[in-house]
Amino acid sequence: MSDVHDLVVAGSGVAGLSAAVYAARADLDPLVLEGDEPGGQLTLTTDVENYLGFPDGVGGMELIQRGRDQAERFGAEFRHGSIEAADLDGRPMELSLSTGETLRTRALVVATGASARWVGADGEDELMGYGLSTCATCDGAFHRGDDVLVVGGGDSAMEEALFLAKFADSVTVLHRRADLRASEIMAERAREHDDIEFAWNTELVAIHGSTEEGVTGATVVSHPDGHPAETYEAGGDVTMDELDVGGVFYAIGHEPNTEFFRDTAVELDDSGYVQTAGGGDAWATTETAVDGVFAAGDVMDPDYQQAVTAAGTGSMAALDAETWLEAAPLDSAQPAVPVPSEADD
Ligand SMILES: Cc1cc2nc3c(=O)[nH]c(=O)nc-3n(C[C@H](O)[C@H](O)[C@H](O)COP(=O)(O)OP(=O)(O)OC[C@H]3O[C@@H](n4cnc5c(N)ncnc54)[C@H](O)[C@@H]3O)c2cc1C
Repeated sequence: MSDVHDLVVAGSGVAGLSAAVYAARADLDPLVLEGDEPGGQLTLTTDVENYLGFPDGVGGMELIQRGRDQAERFGAEFRHGSIEAADLDGRPMELSLSTGETLRTRALVVATGASARWVGADGEDELMGYGLSTCATCDGAFHRGDDVLVVGGGDSAMEEALFLAKFADSVTVLHRRADLRASEIMAERAREHDDIEFAWNTELVAIHGSTEEGVTGATVVSHPDGHPAETYEAGGDVTMDELDVGGVFYAIGHEPNTEFFRDTAVELDDSGYVQTAGGGDAWATTETAVDGVFAAGDVMDPDYQQAVTAAGTGSMAALDAETWLEAAPLDSAQPAVPVPSEADD
């Protein structure tokens, strides 16, 4: 059995790195678990133009490497592995890792992100970050004058389409059925926009291009009964079209990485996002329903999901953990959570 850590940070994306920098500078010797995707989602993108402090933009990998160097400089330790199960009832808490190890820790910052769902189209592994994206706010401005596709039929697909219409010449929303899941108000806004079209009963099966040229086209299939990809895969009769497009955006939802919290007292919303204790004002704190467990970044934020907001909540989680560790008795099974008050300022 390992020694007891003061603080484990689960996740090595922007939120985890930001938490690690703050915690390491506070002498908490944080141990950062890298997870299956060291560096997180930003490693999937080439250019980040909206992160403060980089007027000429910065590569996603470079931004992450800089954050990791910064955390290591102050003493953060990085380790391979993902949390597979968590026992948060006892003190210290115990985390079972994919490596077979068990970690014991007094406090935990969970910054495990939310993975965007992918369609499964040919070419997507190669072209993600090269004209294929899961984030219009992040990458829409790279598509001025392009024709682009948005895949999805919910509110987030409508939001992505409306945002992209500011830059792109045309936006086509591909939807596998003939009616939208989006709320009426969002659907109406998209339908009324001159530059947004809908391709009903249509699905993407391949994206074309290269890492040098970016996305250059897409193959789509359609069938009047909907869900055409299933018919196509079963060898059925579908209409197939080749589209000249310069960008493809997936907007079919995100999966928060919180499976290991399912059997714990940490509260999750219906989609699996960690609920922090701020009530209606989720940004007030990163505390979860379990003492000593804090959440940061996309895993607790279904709305903004930006690098800069993830970094912001990462720093908040480390500060909250530091305050909590200072007040928590070393051997208490249920340490008291300090209630922030104006007197603390
Ligand atoms: C293609 C693309 C382009 C983007 N471009 C931009 C942009 O230009 N600007 C911008 O602001 N945002 C951009 N974003 C969004 C941004 O990347 C995310 O908001 C940000 O990465 C969220 O950071 P995070 O640390 O919360 O989560 P993530 O980056 O998702 O990191 C999660 C981390 O948790 C780890 N993990 C997962 N499960 C476990 C587990 N069980 N145990 C331990 N660790 C685990 C993973 O390995 C990973 O290290 C982009 C996203 C994508 C996909």
